[in-house]
Amino acid sequence: MKKHLKIKDIILVVLILLVAGGAWLLHEVLKDAGSGVAVIRVNGEIEGTYPLSEDREISINGGTNILRIRNGKAKMIEADCPDQLCVNQRAVSADNESIICLPNKVIVEIQSRQESEYDAVTN
Ligand SMILES: [Zn+2]
Repeated sequence: MKKHLKIKDIILVVLILLVAGGAWLLHEVLKDAGSGVAVIRVNGEIEGTYPLSEDREISINGGTNILRIRNGKAKMIEADCPDQLCVNQRAVSADNESIICLPNKVIVEIQSRQESEYDAVTN
């Protein structure tokens, strides 16, 4: 009986450590990768806002441009514009950095999450 209790205790301690460690890790990951959002504007109007913490590909303006969010950075990977300037731009991740596709009137702007989310909550 004593032995069984001991093993149970150990399992309990390990479980607590795992949960605590997992929560801490999640917090660290979110703090690093989730520091901003990509705000997508088409013709001056916001089409969508996407957190940089989630990897995904976004079809913009009915598919004229495709933005990829990966590893906390946003990059235009496809566009049907003739100049392809937006596709050739480097990935953006810092506050106020942007990717602009003039022919398609598409603007992708990075905003720090703190500002935009606190605004949304307080308004
Ligand atoms: Zn373009």
